[in-house]
Amino acid sequence: MTNRIPFITLIYLILLTSCASNPYSQTNRMHKKQAKLYAKQLRTFPPEHDDQKAMLQYGDNWVGTTNFSLRKPNFVILHHTAQNSVEHTLKTFTLPRTSVSSHYVIGRDGDIYHMLNDYYRGWHAGAGTWGNNTDLNSSSIGIELDNNGYEPFDEAQIESLLELLEVLKERHGIPTANFIGHSDIAPTRKVDPNVTFPWKRLAEKGFGYWYDDIEVSPKVIGDSIVPSEAIRKIEVAENEIFENGSASDSIHLTIDPKLALRVIGYDVSDLNAAIKAFKLHFIQKDINVELTDEDLKILYNLYQKYL
Ligand SMILES: [Zn+2]
Repeated sequence: MTNRIPFITLIYLILLTSCASNPYSQTNRMHKKQAKLYAKQLRTFPPEHDDQKAMLQYGDNWVGTTNFSLRKPNFVILHHTAQNSVEHTLKTFTLPRTSVSSHYVIGRDGDIYHMLNDYYRGWHAGAGTWGNNTDLNSSSIGIELDNNGYEPFDEAQIESLLELLEVLKERHGIPTANFIGHSDIAPTRKVDPNVTFPWKRLAEKGFGYWYDDIEVSPKVIGDSIVPSEAIRKIEVAENEIFENGSASDSIHLTIDPKLALRVIGYDVSDLNAAIKAFKLHFIQKDINVELTDEDLKILYNLYQKYL
């Protein structure tokens, strides 16, 4: 009598072992199945059924061009998870009923989890606007940082993020201005990433813009304060309009905050929400709706970078 295990039992054992070692084997299969379905729909040309026709605008004549590629993401949107662990977030993003996902999740320890091909549309941005773009999910990569929503971000996590951003910027040709936060695109709904997020450090590496300290803060030479270039520009504008070029030592801010915020990209239909989102990203000392003289100088300096 041979001691061979029946083939079917062997397969069952292999499946059982792989399921036990990878808690996501079942949802990975669901992911593959869904990707296959999209691939099949994209391959079909011309479309045969109504559900395939929805993916293509069609005319009476079919001539397939030979020259095309996949669309590329043009934005990166950063989030904090507001959850207590990576495992919690991975679970949330693999439960169909939650209808939320992101392309990447980065743990506090710097481990990166890639959950979705960069070319697929993730469900991380939700309703939001940046400039005239009203479907950020279609044009962006979402990155979630494991963070409870209030704590500072770990060094290992930020280092991994910077490495990932480097690759994404290079691979997809993402413009410097287009590395933004969830709160930037949804000021009335979202406050992530939290106020401790190191936006300045990111901007220094080419991911998003930051203001010029030297332009914003007046230079002190001896006992006198020399107005910075930004302030002089504002004074000139003021003088030309109201004082026919007469000199003035006082600082007049002629900037229209609503216009400046809109130029940067904010949805200003709720101006107070837009100001708070701007301050969460660029001021970070406080996030109330008041714009101090210094805040206005920063806004003035920044919006010119987006013109
Ligand atoms: Zn978010």
